[in-house]
Formats: sequence, structure tokens, C-alpha cells
Amino acid sequence: MLAVEEARDRILHAVGPEGPSQEVPVAEAAGRYLAAAVPAQVASPPFDNAAMDGYALRRTDLTATGGELPVAFTAAAGDAPGELPAGACCRIMTGAPVPVGADAVVMQEKVEAAASGVRFAACPPAGENIRRAGEDVAPGEVVAEPGERVTPALISALATAGVGRVTVARPPRVYVLSTGSELCDVGGALAPGQIHDSNRPALVAELRRLGAEVVDGGRVPDDPAALRRALGEAAACDFAVTSGGVSVGEFDQVRAILAEMGEVALWKVAIKPGKPLAFGRLGSAHFFGLPGNPVSALVTFRQFVQPALIRWQGGHFAPVRISAVAGAAFERAQAGRTEFVRARFHWQDGRLTATPLSRQGSGMIGGLSRAHGFIVVEAGNHGFGAGDSLLVEPTGEWCSFGEPQPRGEQ
Ligand code: AMP
Ligand code: MG
Repeated sequence: MLAVEEARDRILHAVGPEGPSQEVPVAEAAGRYLAAAVPAQVASPPFDNAAMDGYALRRTDLTATGGELPVAFTAAAGDAPGELPAGACCRIMTGAPVPVGADAVVMQEKVEAAASGVRFAACPPAGENIRRAGEDVAPGEVVAEPGERVTPALISALATAGVGRVTVARPPRVYVLSTGSELCDVGGALAPGQIHDSNRPALVAELRRLGAEVVDGGRVPDDPAALRRALGEAAACDFAVTSGGVSVGEFDQVRAILAEMGEVALWKVAIKPGKPLAFGRLGSAHFFGLPGNPVSALVTFRQFVQPALIRWQGGHFAPVRISAVAGAAFERAQAGRTEFVRARFHWQDGRLTATPLSRQGSGMIGGLSRAHGFIVVEAGNHGFGAGDSLLVEPTGEWCSFGEPQPRGEQ
């Protein structure tokens, strides 16, 4: 069985940065991956401006102990730069252009009103409270590199640098399908033997969070003809993600049909939960057959599908692992697979503490919805003791750190 890292490496090798690029307005680029380096179009700031509300002056008009100067005019943000007459200062607001001739701005809290203007208690250092043109970004300087994800902060940096449009990878089109004759649509009344299809809405939500264009294939029973029809549609997408039917049960047919219509590149990974993962190729689509158990489906999505989607868009994937201390012991009878143990995180004695949730079954989705993240138990380990050092992977978007005691835990 392939180790988690090896399986991920093989998948990332098979996928590669292949997403075609398109140009979009910066304001609409959030979450996308840049396809080209972006140079600044303008300097930031574009002109010398005041960092404080105060008074701009020419330092040679003051002595070491300051002096008194008349106020020639007021410079507001948005004004064109004025010119400072000799022997005078001007009132200036944050962001206003520093007038020609001025070489310092004194904050207004440091001056006193005087009969003929304002009184300065000292001569300020040259350049005080002046934001110089280009001190943040020079024109032509590279603001962002190819493969960078467009974050709100990067949108701000690009807008500041005068960039209106960027070239990014287009979002991947991802076909999502649930397989299983037991499945009933969300919210529907369950017939005997049925369960609700929880994987599809959860996977659709994961894909939308990553900016993918979702093609909802619905659900199909464990019937080869229905599965062939659905996979035929999936073959035209960039990715296909199915859940269920990849294990060794009598009605688990996804792998056999993938082999018939495409190619199975790998099957079974030493991961818990999520062992029976299948990956391969189906027409133009990279194919992921995720296990049906809801926790397995979401864990394998995070470990394998998300990195592949990022890679396809030219982005760089690195798992976020943070060191923490175990809030309680966790033991397992059998080593051999990397286990992602659902846990709650909290701060204790200045350290991030991770406590395993009591219910770890791969079908127990309630625990995952309460988890702040996973404790990673390496394949060779039998567990850990309370107080041991650990590595954890936060679930991020699923929840934020909260109180140590979750619902339903003793
Ligand atoms: P499978 O991988 O098809 O053997 O399914 C493993 C377990 O996951 C079974 O108990 C299935 O009923 C359950 N399961 C499969 N697909 C889904 C789904 N879409 N939503 C919720 N549970 C599912
Ligand atoms: Mg099934």
C-alpha cells in the first residue's frame, strides 16, 4: 500500500500545472492562481505624502528649539501638490501631497496655537512623517509571482500598484457524483435501508470553497450501466470526484468501470480513514474515487483532491502542520497507516493543545463537524500519551478554535 506522501507525490506528478489561463479583473481574482508575474504599473505611494494630520514645513525655517510659523494654506488628501512659501508652514492631512519645499511633517498633537500661526517646540528630523514616493513599491517591481494564490491582501497590493487585470488559471471544472443504491437526496424521506447522500453536498461545498466550477452529476445506484453513463459525462471535465463503491464489496464497481473506460493509476493508500482511494484518468478528467464513508471522503478530499486542484492551477501545495501538545492519550491496536485523528484544539499554559474526540469511526461525521483539525499519527506509531508533542493539521475553513469541551463529549 502506498504511503500518504508517496500517493500524493504520484498524484501531483500525474496532474501537473495544466490549467489554461484567462485574464480577469483584479477584483474578481480572489482564490485564483496567477499564471504570470505581475509588475507594478505605478509607484506606491505615487507621490510624497503626509503620514499624519499635522503641519508641513521647511526645516531651515526653524531653529533647534523650534519656532513660530504662519499657516499658508491647507493641503487635503486628493489635492494636487502645492508649493510652500518661504517662512511659512501649511496644515496637512494624512494622505495629502507634501508641498514642494517642505521636508518634514509635524503631527498636530505636537504643536501649539500661536498669535500668528503655530508654534513648534523643536526642529523635526528630515523627512519626518513623510511617506516617500515608491517606498512601498517601485514601478516595474514584481508584485506577485506565477503560482501565487490571489488573497484579499494581494488584491489590495495589486490595486495599489495600478494593476487592473491579471492572468490566472481558469477554475477547474469538476464533476461530482455519489454512488450507492442506498442513497436518498438531502432532506428526502428515507425508505427502509436508505441513508441521506451527505457526501455530495459536502464535496460540492469543498469545491466551491476552492473556486472550482462544479458539475453536479447527482447520484447513481450501484448499477454498472448507470455508472457508465455518469462516467461518460464526467470524462469531458477537468476532474471527476466520485464517492462510494471503490472498496472490495460485491457492489463496489467504480474501479472496474474506471479501468474499462479509462485508467486506474493507483488504488489503496495507507491512510486512516480513507484507505480504498482510487486515482486515475477518465477522458480529459483526472479521476478520484473517494471512499463512501463520509469522514473518509472528506479526509481524502483534503489530502489528495485539494492539492491536485491547486497543482492543476499552477499553485504550490504544502500541508499546514503545526506543533501541539496532546490533551489526552490515544492508542491504536494496529499501526501501518497514517491516521488523521479528529481533535479539538485549545490554548492551555500558552501552548496549542489537541485533544482527540472520543468517536473516531470513519462514518461518524458528527465528530468531524466538531473537530478543529486532525492529529497526524504517523504510520509506524501506535498512538501517543497525554502531554506528548504532536503535529496537527487544522481544518481551517470548517471551524475556528473554540472551547475545549465540545457537544456530546464527556
Ligand atoms: P462504500 O464506500 O460504497 O462501501 O460506502 C461505505 C459507507 O459509506 C457505507 O456505509 C455507505 O452507505 C456510506 N456512503 C456511501 N456513499 C455515501 C454518501 N454519498 N453519503 C453518505 N454516506 C455514504
Ligand atoms: Mg457503496
